[in-house]
Amino acid sequence: MPTIFSKIIAGEIPSYKIAENDRFYAFLDINPLSPGHTLVVPKQEIDKYFDLEPELLSELNLFAQKVAHAMRSVIPCQRIGQIVFGLEVPHAHIHLIPIRTEADMSFTKAREQISSEKMKELAELIRSAL
Ligand code: 5GP
Repeated sequence: MPTIFSKIIAGEIPSYKIAENDRFYAFLDINPLSPGHTLVVPKQEIDKYFDLEPELLSELNLFAQKVAHAMRSVIPCQRIGQIVFGLEVPHAHIHLIPIRTEADMSFTKAREQISSEKMKELAELIRSAL
């Protein structure tokens, strides 16, 4: 059974896409901790981040770095936080989170409600900076 992220990558479930190449896919988190919260995933379905082959793990981070630079250039924030965290989806992923305060990285805080129009705008904005 494919993960929800594999279905997103395959286009079976819609997403606010940020970037894609042959091995990786970046898209807005549907329940963001802050506006622009992005997930970066390998297309290869591997559950645990540290089980990725070393080269794939490195390349995933270099891909995430490009996305983070684009995010930082267009989203008002102090910096982009990166975290590998979570038990919900068994498909390795990096969270990139625009932060203004340390609390913005807290997974216990309430997620933001952002309209689909605003999510579309955010995705376009980040894409335009890539
Ligand atoms: P985790 O495994 O890190 O606990 O949770 C997975 C993350 O993926 C969560 O932040 C959640 O909001 C996000 N997520 C779960 N389902 C979807 C989805 O269908 N679309 C998008 N864009 N994000 C999702």
